[in-house]
Amino acid sequence: MTRGTLIAGNWKMNGDSAQIDAFAREVKQAGEDLGADLLVCVPLVYAERMQQGLSGSAVALGAQNLAAEIEPGAFTGEVNGAMLADVGCSHVIVGHSERRALYGETDAVVAAKADAAVAAHLQPIVCVGETLRQREADQTEQVLAAQIAALFAQCERAALARMIVAYEPIWAIGTGRSASPEQSQAVHGFLRGQIAERDATLARSVQLLYGGSVKPDNAAALFAGADVDGALVGGASLKADSFLDIARAAG
Ligand code: PEP
Repeated sequence: MTRGTLIAGNWKMNGDSAQIDAFAREVKQAGEDLGADLLVCVPLVYAERMQQGLSGSAVALGAQNLAAEIEPGAFTGEVNGAMLADVGCSHVIVGHSERRALYGETDAVVAAKADAAVAAHLQPIVCVGETLRQREADQTEQVLAAQIAALFAQCERAALARMIVAYEPIWAIGTGRSASPEQSQAVHGFLRGQIAERDATLARSVQLLYGGSVKPDNAAALFAGADVDGALVGGASLKADSFLDIARAAG
């Protein structure tokens, strides 16, 4: 089974118009077929600008969050999946650890958002991962098993069928301390096993991304893991050269 490789950039709350334009220009200038699918998730106010800048390139556009509500209505400040699709997004990150920790997103909210994404024909990139304290207490598998169980208990079948799972150990996000290739492969194998217990076909096809301080110099070793199907990249996705170098490492 070839699952394909996805390199997804998460700009978080960074960037401005000039940076968006420079990124899009440099990606288009590079103009090469990198053998991986590429995606950038920029702040929503810049989505259309990035979409226009990247037109004609192979880089797709994603969002970092969406409303759990599907229908339009009185939800001040929220943006639903249909709106994201309308401005050209194909993917949306769901349940990033920052949203879980800072905005109180529970497993139930994460599942509702994954459902809402798929209802709008977006592919959800659902994030899971353990804290440093949980890893040091040897609870990594327990935490991840619970997060996968919650997804299977609470998501609709259609969302499970379309989801991408991003393993993002919280201690590795933005710290410069990536999981080792051995650690990431071990967890990805565990996650695939958890999914296989529920749906063996899905386990073979679901893409599992690794996220947490992925850089051009550690990407190839991480991608060597048999169950590592790409990366969710924060800081190193803000510049076209490092983002493209990570994609090249996947090729
Ligand atoms: C992230 O934003 O999800 C992330 C993994 O960030 P970084 O690559 O900077 O650790």
